[in-house]
Amino acid sequence: MSGTDRMQSSEPVPKTKSGTPMVVIDHLFKHFGQETAVKDVNLAIGEGEFVTLLGPSGCGKTTTLRCVAGLERPDGGEISIGGQAVVAPARELYLPPEARNIGMVFQSYAVWPHMTVFENVAYGLRVRRAANDVVKKKTMRALELVGLDHLADRFATKLSGGQRQRVALARAIVYEPRVVLYDEPLSNLDAKLREQMRVELVRLQKEVGLTAIYVTHDQSEALVMSDRVVVMDKAVIQQIGDPRTIYAHPVNSFVANFIGVANLIRGKMTGRTGELAEIELPIGDGLAPVHVRAVGGGDIVAGQPAILSLRPEDVQLSLTPTGDTGLNRFTGRVIDTVYLGSFLECRVAVGQHELIVQLDHFEQLAPGQTVHLSFAPEHALCLAK
Ligand code: ATP
Repeated sequence: MSGTDRMQSSEPVPKTKSGTPMVVIDHLFKHFGQETAVKDVNLAIGEGEFVTLLGPSGCGKTTTLRCVAGLERPDGGEISIGGQAVVAPARELYLPPEARNIGMVFQSYAVWPHMTVFENVAYGLRVRRAANDVVKKKTMRALELVGLDHLADRFATKLSGGQRQRVALARAIVYEPRVVLYDEPLSNLDAKLREQMRVELVRLQKEVGLTAIYVTHDQSEALVMSDRVVVMDKAVIQQIGDPRTIYAHPVNSFVANFIGVANLIRGKMTGRTGELAEIELPIGDGLAPVHVRAVGGGDIVAGQPAILSLRPEDVQLSLTPTGDTGLNRFTGRVIDTVYLGSFLECRVAVGQHELIVQLDHFEQLAPGQTVHLSFAPEHALCLAK
């Protein structure tokens, strides 16, 4: 079993009220010519869950979402929504998007300029042949939910970017779909509006009890909004977990590096002391290797490569040597410091490595100055190569 398989199968599968997950993606594959865009993706999403597919450009997140939507046909695997299979190539089963009962919100607002806000939102109900009084009631309710009921009669051309995106949102939820799919819906908005919309989207999702699959390459967006984050790279799921777990316990150096900033130092596993991994880190420049202890690394055998992952906020910096053991300590020289509002970021050269340390109090640090770095083993992670 590969590391990825283990990660995926160890995830608890969230259930709907009826006992099955709302969305199940089972061994999904999608190729474009020679290229594999999605490789054996497995994911179960519970009713009311907000799950984000996160990863760098080209990692396969949009293709996965488009397969759920029915906009792309997978080559292998199966997807079901609400317990009903919507695509299964081996059985030649394929339901088009309109038969899947899903709402979609994209990066481009795609609102119709020649229609009023009301008509833009009502459209989805009208094509489903809803009665007029139902159309009115549900459309106004959706507009209320996104805070646009007072603009129902305005033409869509006379709306700001944020308002247009709210129309797109109301349009996606008006017919009470089982699942809403979001493809980078906030990336065209300015930074302030984006933050405001993040909060609103989550509020709306909880209030209406929507099940959401959200695609983004913005890790802070994913961490703030999601119940669970699915980190993808190179067509494969790297890790599934709640935001705290993904940040604090990344399973490999890709996830550690992609989510926030991590100092990664390559070394060699030398053994274990209780729960802690012992790693030897060559630091170069003719200096003796540094020995550290860190959590994790249970799969790594002594003598194999291991990587130490350290968050900048978990490293203590001191002008004088601390403690009397040489363990979990580096000595280095300040490269530079950057003031970042509420904290100071300091780059420190340790042998051939460069470590980033976050300081929440002001230190008088000059480039070239010798500093001592230390960290608690429980705040350091040992990762496989
Ligand atoms: P982005 O954030 O840039 O949209 P992504 O993570 O969503 O990236 P996908 O759009 O899913 O990635 O693309 C995965 C891979 O499949 C990429 O290498 C991409 O070039 C390729 N790909 C996607 N759609 C097509 C297509 N219609 N034809 C050919 N190749 C495609």
